[in-house]
Amino acid sequence: MSAHPEATPPDLARKRAYEAAKLAKRLRHQVGQAIADFNMIEDGDKVMVCLSGGKDSYTMLDILLSLQAKAPVRFELIAVNLDQKQPGFPEHVLPQYLTERGVPFHIIEQDTYSTVTRVIPEGKTMCSLCSRLRRGALYNWAADNGVTKIALGHHRDDILATFFLNLFHQGNLKAMPPKLRSDDGRHVVIRPLAYCKESDIAEYAEHKQFPIIPCNLCGSQENLQRKSVGRMLQEWERQHPGRSETMFRALGNVAPSQLADRKLFDFAALGSRDGAKRADVHGWLAGSDNENN
Ligand code: SF4
Repeated sequence: MSAHPEATPPDLARKRAYEAAKLAKRLRHQVGQAIADFNMIEDGDKVMVCLSGGKDSYTMLDILLSLQAKAPVRFELIAVNLDQKQPGFPEHVLPQYLTERGVPFHIIEQDTYSTVTRVIPEGKTMCSLCSRLRRGALYNWAADNGVTKIALGHHRDDILATFFLNLFHQGNLKAMPPKLRSDDGRHVVIRPLAYCKESDIAEYAEHKQFPIIPCNLCGSQENLQRKSVGRMLQEWERQHPGRSETMFRALGNVAPSQLADRKLFDFAALGSRDGAKRADVHGWLAGSDNENN
């Protein structure tokens, strides 16, 4: 008899079910933790779950539904999708899925596709304008329908990619916060998947067999910079497992006195003995600087 008998199909099925349950538990825990850490959802909230039909938003909705069933607070969930009128968009897929699951939903119909294709020259990436228009349509609907929180499906790796894109191309230290007030001040936006890694979400979506709608129906060029940062992060993670998690932790562990932003830390006051003299010295330094130019 072999010391390591080969796994039989029932063994494999059991193992898969065990792994899937473990993954679901991990995702629920991470989402619950993010909600608690950032006070994302409170009693009486009406949460609009933005559902694009991609793996991330399906996973977000699924996990929020399971948390809602056991949460100590009462909150409402409504799934909202924007039908942007892209050619080939399978408009029956989301209503069918949401009806089967008994989830309240609304589909906004707005032809942002025509606007984007009219404004953006052929061959250029359309995603930035497309996302802005989509955001506008969703935020307007939220304002008209008593929504108190808008949930977006960005995950940990989206947040890290945004951080590096800003670092490399914009010269600032900025990522995507797990919770924010929208620029127009009207909404609170939350990212319940902020602690979840993309590979877990992909595995979960695969296991759950969500009816995924691809986001490239429009035929847009992919954002090449974001793609290359994504590849860089994956390569780092492959070579140094755990690096992404460490980097993500850094976003919540900032030491302003160890950076060089004078708006965040008063370096001038550090060790200063005489404010008036300091002002003189600054004037003199600025002057000598001008002379050298
Ligand atoms: S891939 Fe197409 S639908 Fe998706 S964000 Fe970009 S332009 Fe919009």
